[in-house]
Amino acid sequence: MNSPLRLFRIFAAVISMWNKIYVEEAILNSPRVQNILSKTGMVPLVLKTYDEIWGKSKKPYLHKRDSLNLFLAEKKGQLLKLAPDAYGTAGEPHYYFIHAYNCIYECQYCYLQGYFNSPDIVLFINHEEILAEMQKTVDENSGTRVWFHAGEFSDSLALTHLTGELALYHDFCKKNPKAVIELRTKSVNTKELLELEPLDNFIISFSLSPQKVAKEIDLKTPSTKARLKTMSELKKRGYKLAAHFDPIVYQDTFKSDYQELLNQMNDSDLTKELDYLSLGVVRFTKDVYREVERNYPDSVIHGTPMIKSFDNKVRYNHPMRMWMMNSVKELALAAGVKSDAIYLCMEEHA
Ligand code: SF4
Repeated sequence: MNSPLRLFRIFAAVISMWNKIYVEEAILNSPRVQNILSKTGMVPLVLKTYDEIWGKSKKPYLHKRDSLNLFLAEKKGQLLKLAPDAYGTAGEPHYYFIHAYNCIYECQYCYLQGYFNSPDIVLFINHEEILAEMQKTVDENSGTRVWFHAGEFSDSLALTHLTGELALYHDFCKKNPKAVIELRTKSVNTKELLELEPLDNFIISFSLSPQKVAKEIDLKTPSTKARLKTMSELKKRGYKLAAHFDPIVYQDTFKSDYQELLNQMNDSDLTKELDYLSLGVVRFTKDVYREVERNYPDSVIHGTPMIKSFDNKVRYNHPMRMWMMNSVKELALAAGVKSDAIYLCMEEHA
């Protein structure tokens, strides 16, 4: 006979976003894993290491739409990665910390579609080890601020109700005023975040596109309007905010589209409040570009010719990129964004 708990688990599994959940044997009984599992209501499959299955053979990116698996694992090897030049504001070291692979959203330009062999999500739960590495890096760079960016391989907030790690990283910022953490997101999932007091060195940055463009290419994400509403709520609560207009995709109306976005931001008093605003024009590695062509053949992204650029990336030609970024920069300045808050992403060698 089915117990109420078993019935609950069956029901939860039916409505779950996960097809299957895999857990590494060594962490199966850890409270963190048990907590995540209890929230999903699913019974996991146990394996030795996640990469026995994850990424072993090619799983097409779009299979994430109807058979997304979750892996709970420990991150081995490199826990921090030095960010490329011009990733962030200049003159200070920038690192990504790696606590997850892949994302529940489906942006047509997402570079993850050509980066990994699988769209299945991996959540690494050894946050203490990641934080120890971050602490070591801060101690080695005692004369300067050090930036740590989450969200290079995933969205930083989308699953935080499940993972519950935000408090640990927040505590790290509290203890290390010279460390800055950026949580980069398109999510409006702020439940965990709102439990934490705002800190100057704990920055929530939102990737934004004009509403009309986001509707076409940011699939399954919260709308631009919803993201702006969340930013406005966070601002009222005192959180530090930043924004990324990246990727900017060419359309004949791109200037008026970004003007409209900036007007919407101004309506919520957001432009003057931004700690920084990065601007970047759409770009791909060769592999990712091939995937985008295959997965989204009718995308607006293919409406304008691209070339192979100085760093082997596929992008618009240089004059066009600079014209687009400078056009949006001028609009942002006119809308009240401070000039020293704006930086152009990935263009320093062009
Ligand atoms: S939110 Fe970011 S990580 Fe997620 S699909 Fe979009 S671009 Fe990729």
